[in-house]
Amino acid sequence: MNRRLFFIAAAAFVAMLGVSAEVRAAEPMKVSASFSILGDMVKQVGGDRVEVFTFVGPNGDAHVYEPTPADAKELSESKILFINGLGLEGWMTRLEKSSGFKGTVVTASNGITPRKMVEDEKTVTDPHAWQDLANGKIYVANIRDALIAADPGGKATYEANAQKFLDGITQMDTTVKQAIAKLPPERRKIITTHDAFGYFGAAYGMEFIAPEGVSTESEASAKDVAKIITQIKKEKIPAVFLENVTDSRLLDQIAKETGAKIGGTLYSDALSPADGPAGTYLDMFHNNIETMSAALSS
Ligand SMILES: [Zn+2]
Repeated sequence: MNRRLFFIAAAAFVAMLGVSAEVRAAEPMKVSASFSILGDMVKQVGGDRVEVFTFVGPNGDAHVYEPTPADAKELSESKILFINGLGLEGWMTRLEKSSGFKGTVVTASNGITPRKMVEDEKTVTDPHAWQDLANGKIYVANIRDALIAADPGGKATYEANAQKFLDGITQMDTTVKQAIAKLPPERRKIITTHDAFGYFGAAYGMEFIAPEGVSTESEASAKDVAKIITQIKKEKIPAVFLENVTDSRLLDQIAKETGAKIGGTLYSDALSPADGPAGTYLDMFHNNIETMSAALSS
C-alpha cells in the first residue's frame, strides 16, 4: 500500500468509527412500563432517548393480565421497569421472575397519599392514583429522576421534557376544575362499573359510585347491583358511564332498570389506541371531562 492510499484508508476507517460511535450514542435506552397510561408518561418524559415497551396496551385491563413470553423477553432487555404499585399489578412478580430482569424497578406512585377503603369488611388500597392530576405530577417527577439516574447524559432532555409535561398537567387541572364548577352540584354524581375514579372524585368534587370494587377481579354481587339501582332511583342520579376496560352489560342493565342514561365511555385504567380520543394521559382527562360535562350539564 502506498502512503497516499494508506491515508485514505485510515481516514475512511476513522470516519467509520465516528459513525458507529454516533449510532451507539443515539440508540435509545430500553425500558418497560406495566400499562398504557404509565407507558405514555414515560414516553413523554423520555422522548427520543428512551424506547418504551408497554405490557398492558390500549383498552387493556391492568388488574388482570396474562404476561406472554414476548413480555418476558422485552423485560429482560429493559434497564428500568416502571410500575404503578399500590397493588395494581398483581401479575408482575411472576413476570419479573420468569424474565430474569436485572434492572431497576421504579414505583411511579411513590410519594402519593394512598386512598384506603373498606370492601367486604377488608381495608383495601385504591391503586387508581393517576386519576388525580396532582398525583400525575408526582409520577412524572419519579419517572424523570429514574431516567436521569439510569442515563445521566440525558439529564437536560429529561428535565426539559418533564417540565413541559408538568405544565400541560397544570393546564389540564385548571380545565377540569372549571368544567366541574359549571355543573349543578346535585348532578355531580356518576355511576361507573368499577371503582376507578375515587382519586378523581376526591380531587375535583365529584361522587363516583360503582357496583364493582377497586379491582375488576371480583364481579359485582346481585346485592351490590340492587343497592345501586335503589340509590340511582332515590338520588335521581342522571347518568351511568361505561369504561373502556370493562364489559358494558352490567351498566346497560342498570341503565335499563333505572331509566338513567348512558353518558358515554370514560377511560379509567387504559388509554385508547393512538388514533382514538384518549391516546395520551392528557387526552384521557380531556375526553373524560368532556364526556362527563356533556352528560351532566343538563
Ligand atoms: Zn381499575
